[in-house]
Amino acid sequence: MPEATLTKVHQGFSYRLDPTPEQRHLLASHAGAARFCHNFLLGIILANWKDNRERKEAGEEVARESYLGTRQFDLQKLWYERRAESAPWFSENASSTYNYAHAHLAQAFANYFAGRTRLPTFKSKGRRESFTLAGGSTRLVDSHHVRLSRIGEIKTYETMRKLHRHLERGSARILSVTVVERGGMYTLAFSAEMSRVIPAPRPPERVIGIDVGLATLYTGATPDGTPVLSVANPRHYQRSEARLARAQRVASRRRGPRKGVTPSNRWRRANQRVQNVHADIAHARKNLIHETTTMLAKSYDRIVVEDLNVKGMLKNHTLAKHISDASWSEFVCQLEYKATWYGSTVVKADRFFPSSKTCSSCGAVKAKLSLEIRTYHCETCGLTLDRDHNAAVNLARWTSQATSAGTHSVAGRGGEVRPRRTRSVKAHPDEASTETPVPVGA
Ligand SMILES: [Zn+2]
Repeated sequence: MPEATLTKVHQGFSYRLDPTPEQRHLLASHAGAARFCHNFLLGIILANWKDNRERKEAGEEVARESYLGTRQFDLQKLWYERRAESAPWFSENASSTYNYAHAHLAQAFANYFAGRTRLPTFKSKGRRESFTLAGGSTRLVDSHHVRLSRIGEIKTYETMRKLHRHLERGSARILSVTVVERGGMYTLAFSAEMSRVIPAPRPPERVIGIDVGLATLYTGATPDGTPVLSVANPRHYQRSEARLARAQRVASRRRGPRKGVTPSNRWRRANQRVQNVHADIAHARKNLIHETTTMLAKSYDRIVVEDLNVKGMLKNHTLAKHISDASWSEFVCQLEYKATWYGSTVVKADRFFPSSKTCSSCGAVKAKLSLEIRTYHCETCGLTLDRDHNAAVNLARWTSQATSAGTHSVAGRGGEVRPRRTRSVKAHPDEASTETPVPVGA
């Protein structure tokens, strides 16, 4: 039996800020400085490349040394050399703002060279402004006030009690803070290193399969067919959908941003209302996912979910569908890291496992089952069951041996199963964690 380990995990905490007008000014100044630094250095590098290209085309021999470096150290050096002349105001903003701008640009170049992304682009003003500060100089005064270097003590709308408690206990360390401004709304995102005791995985005694749907968001069942979870798609989604449509209609009648046209103040206000509805929906969704995933990770030892192709699904157009699909990837992502916290295990059933089309009673597989059909009716054995419930039961019984295409590195029942961690999954901004196991003792 493996033992519990003490692990350092990175976790994000984000809170909305309530800055004073003077603080807004300082925040905007920092964001502007970060943007300037990014654009300035990117401009120098791109000009250097262009220069070298032209020299090459002219038949000149261009040495390696003619290329400016793009690592953080190189960019930093470049900034130190040129800032006094090009940005004489630089010292008005906290120095770590620039350091992070260098680091982020260096990372963007590294991603480009590795073929992961396109060439870094210039940042334009007003779209989404952000800057990052070092965590060392950031203090939580209490659960509602945060002190940022050069900006001062800012009030937050929500309580930061959880993070505050961790900091006081010494079980968290702030690595960095990123301030993001969108539509006049400031959000502070902490990246923290948390010390956590990770329990050994429990033997799979309590098993649940979970199906995702539209009317019912999550349907859960045990292998013996007992329905144990039914999370309805909350009413407010439908209500919000109507609110959103109304707000969008109003905004569309006003003078919005077009080339060469400044948007009217009436449009700005209307657009702000649209953004608010979006934020409300996101918040409600987040809470629901947190509640459900925590409950599941605490109550079950083995949780089987579908391995959905979310990217393809997001092409759907109705809002409800969109929300439900986006929720699913977030749901699975949260479930996976919470499972490690509580010693539970998440298993992704094979993508080609026909969980919806298989009869949970006799095992017959339908050739086709369209989405509108909400009840599963088996022609072979006569079973009539709610479609989602039927799928959940099949998932609960799923083992890698069940499908011939079982290429997953997942053991069947009774085997030792660890959740797979995919770093490519975009971490949830709140409570997201990437794990760096540091076994202690053991
Ligand atoms: Zn049947």
